[in-house]
Amino acid sequence: MQNGNVTEELDALIVGSGFGGIWLLYHLRKLGFKAKIYEAGQDLGGIWYWNCYPGARVDSDVPLYEYSLEEIWREWTWTERFPSWEELREYFKFVDKKLDISKDCHFNTRVTAAEFDKEKDQWIIATEDGLVTRAKYFLPCTGFAAKRYVPPFKGLETFEGECHHTAVWPQNGIELRDKKIGVIGTGASGVQVIQEVGPIAKNLVSLRSLVGQLGSLADTFPVDRISTYPKPSLADGTAEVGQTETT
Ligand SMILES: Cc1cc2nc3c(=O)[nH]c(=O)nc-3n(C[C@H](O)[C@H](O)[C@H](O)COP(=O)(O)OP(=O)(O)OC[C@H]3O[C@@H](n4cnc5c(N)ncnc54)[C@H](O)[C@@H]3O)c2cc1C
Repeated sequence: MQNGNVTEELDALIVGSGFGGIWLLYHLRKLGFKAKIYEAGQDLGGIWYWNCYPGARVDSDVPLYEYSLEEIWREWTWTERFPSWEELREYFKFVDKKLDISKDCHFNTRVTAAEFDKEKDQWIIATEDGLVTRAKYFLPCTGFAAKRYVPPFKGLETFEGECHHTAVWPQNGIELRDKKIGVIGTGASGVQVIQEVGPIAKNLVSLRSLVGQLGSLADTFPVDRISTYPKPSLADGTAEVGQTETT
């Protein structure tokens, strides 16, 4: 990598343009640093760019979840107490307008390697599309969920239906009305999807594993549960609403 063509030389290279990366860029600029952000996504927002699934919204109520910069909070008014991803995107647009962040961002740019050059006291950073950057400070603001997890489900490769992960939801959305849908997981994202999609789905099955919660009791209690929404037909022998089937 050391011999690659250096395309840019910076004081600081930030990875990720979510809340963290934007905050750092803003402050480093104020301190006189020449800094840039490299972002794998197409726009600002970090997790709010990728997690655009139905029902995605903030869990901490307003005004906890926002920048504490006066030039931002004074002029911005949320329309909901727990804003949706759509409103978060509008918020990031507003932040960009006020702080002029995008001009120092390379979007669609995934960092793939970083190596420290001791002689020059600099990081050499490489990206998927061939950029090689030198910077004194290398600052990953990559969040906790950038590396999404897909469990090794048997048969997933041959599954013929559509399959989507909430953390990389298609940017143009998906038509879910009147579809038969299975939601795997009942953490915050799973619950959000279920309550939004349940009312429009033809049928929705929610699947969760209780392994983690049961710990050593796993041997004595069933580990998988299936609950259904909306109310399934009793005629076909499936469970009543609110009832949980165990397998
Ligand atoms: C639905 C939902 C609701 C949430 N609600 C709350 C809440 O109410 N309160 C709260 O405190 N937190 C909440 N969170 C957590 C949220 O992750 C944080 O609040 C915050 O947005 C994280 O910001 P960040 O800048 O640290 O990282 P992120 O927003 O995750 O940004 C990281 C960025 O780094 C980029 N990146 C990663 N690797 C690379 C690479 N190799 N090259 C280039 N770019 C890369 C990613 O593309 C991403 O854009 C919620 C998360 C979700 C999904």
